[in-house]
Amino acid sequence: MSEIDSAPYRIAAQPYYRPVGNEVDLYTAAYAARMPMMLKGPTGCGKSRFVEYMAWKLKRPLITVACNEDMTAADLIGRFLLDINGTTWRDGPLTLAARMGAICYLDEVVEARQDTVVVIHSLTDHRRTLPLEKKGEVVEAHPDFQVVISYNPGYQSLTKDLKPSTRQRFGAMVFDFPNPDVETEIVAHEAGVDSITAVKLVEVAQRSRNLRGHGLDEGISTRLLVYAGRLIAMGIPPADACRTALVRPLTDDPDMQDTLDAAVDTFF
Ligand code: ADP
Repeated sequence: MSEIDSAPYRIAAQPYYRPVGNEVDLYTAAYAARMPMMLKGPTGCGKSRFVEYMAWKLKRPLITVACNEDMTAADLIGRFLLDINGTTWRDGPLTLAARMGAICYLDEVVEARQDTVVVIHSLTDHRRTLPLEKKGEVVEAHPDFQVVISYNPGYQSLTKDLKPSTRQRFGAMVFDFPNPDVETEIVAHEAGVDSITAVKLVEVAQRSRNLRGHGLDEGISTRLLVYAGRLIAMGIPPADACRTALVRPLTDDPDMQDTLDAAVDTFF
């Protein structure tokens, strides 16, 4: 079979990623062992950025799939499409990644139904194959292929979880929001704000994170801090930027909004 053009999936420029521990070494070793990996952690804490950075560093193409509950196995594997010439097989992202030797990143994997996720099983054990039953083909994964999944354990419910048989195919790396100094550095860099502003934004986020389980499901993420910083960098008054990018997206509860607005006013 002819080589697949991986150019569209290559990351040309180095993504900015600020390591927070030994995750780069750990992932490099896991990739060398072709161990499927799961990245666990709250939304907006840097998991996707880390995968982009690692794909760039390891010089591998990256195919990302944002999982959702309507996703079917065919959306991952591929399907026959009808056109004027009859039916043509179109590889799905998982098949494409397996053929190409890409890193296949299934983002928010628990959003997908469990019976959809099981299609990765044969690719994530010693077989490293993917049967395309409708096409009558068994794809042997390229030696460089790897599966990475991410999920947020905070959202977990009985209906949204991974089967034990899926879990036990992966090594796991735990992500969380970085310590305040590192998060300040990230926010200043990504948003283009001075470090005094970034320190204040991080302090607001920390207040919100202390409210987890006391009226808030999740605290303010690094992603939201970067958004708020960008508004400030564009000249929006900081208190307005924080209300728009940090507080209003997080909660609809008026009392909680008041509490968080008060935290914003303490710092800005
Ligand atoms: P997740 O995939 O965990 O939901 P992302 O990787 O999309 O989160 O992170 C959200 C944003 O936070 C990124 O776009 C980036 O601006 C910033 N970010 C978080 N952690 C880091 C980090 N360690 N280095 C660089 N940027 C980071």
